[in-house]
Amino acid sequence: MRGRVACVRIHALTTGSVRLKRAFLFARSGPRRQLDLFLPGPWSEPMPIHCWAIEHEERLWLIDAGETTSVRNIPFARFELDAEQELPGALRAAGFSPADVSEVVLTHHHGDHVDGLVHLGARVRIHDEELRFLKGAFPRAMRRLLRQPLPPGFAPEPFALSSTPFGAFERSLPLSDDGRIVVVDTPGHTPGHVSIICVTDDGKHVMIAGDATDSLEQLHALRADAVAPDPAVYVATLERILSHCSEHPTVFLPSHDPGSAARLEGAITVTT
Ligand SMILES: [Zn+2]
Ligand SMILES: [Zn+2]
Repeated sequence: MRGRVACVRIHALTTGSVRLKRAFLFARSGPRRQLDLFLPGPWSEPMPIHCWAIEHEERLWLIDAGETTSVRNIPFARFELDAEQELPGALRAAGFSPADVSEVVLTHHHGDHVDGLVHLGARVRIHDEELRFLKGAFPRAMRRLLRQPLPPGFAPEPFALSSTPFGAFERSLPLSDDGRIVVVDTPGHTPGHVSIICVTDDGKHVMIAGDATDSLEQLHALRADAVAPDPAVYVATLERILSHCSEHPTVFLPSHDPGSAARLEGAITVTT
């Protein structure tokens, strides 16, 4: 671990890439929204599978843990990674090792965000509403159907969000002692999905958005994705994020947006 860190430093880690079916990225509304995922159709270019390391208060938080080579392709996602791209290699590329990680906070329970936990011994936490959801009959059936089991030993501790607002978000949970790293609720992609907002040294908000959207374009388009259980909840979250961005200069970082790493590097905020 590096020496004392007073500032907030965020690192984009990349654990391979994924090609997504166009029907996933540009989902229609109505009954074809989910049906098209299982029909033949065009695919995207490779998109990154990011997770994120945050240095602050002499701790290293990991937001999500990325994918591993154990993943199987599914009807709407084709994964591309080798062993060197798994979490240990991704951490090493940023100057860290798995032993440096103080705590992992998960945005949601999907495999490309949790499979890399097999490499870590650190405490892992997940929103209690996401934990309840993932144990339900429908997610369990989907994991069996798509052959996407949770990683061995998956046992995250649940956290609850309090009714303390943070910007446009009604519920939140501070992670750091000084309140500059905060979990906010962004339901939609999954019911318990959360994002993490970091307040940088110059007062900008960096929003680690998981799969709240797949791209910045999707945020502005207010378009639900193809897997959200309730598209209305998804779109309401996008409206809330845009409202937050209009009040606070925000760098928006979805996990699979090919533009996320460059936006982080250049501290490029969302134009509303
Ligand atoms: Zn997901
Ligand atoms: Zn994802």
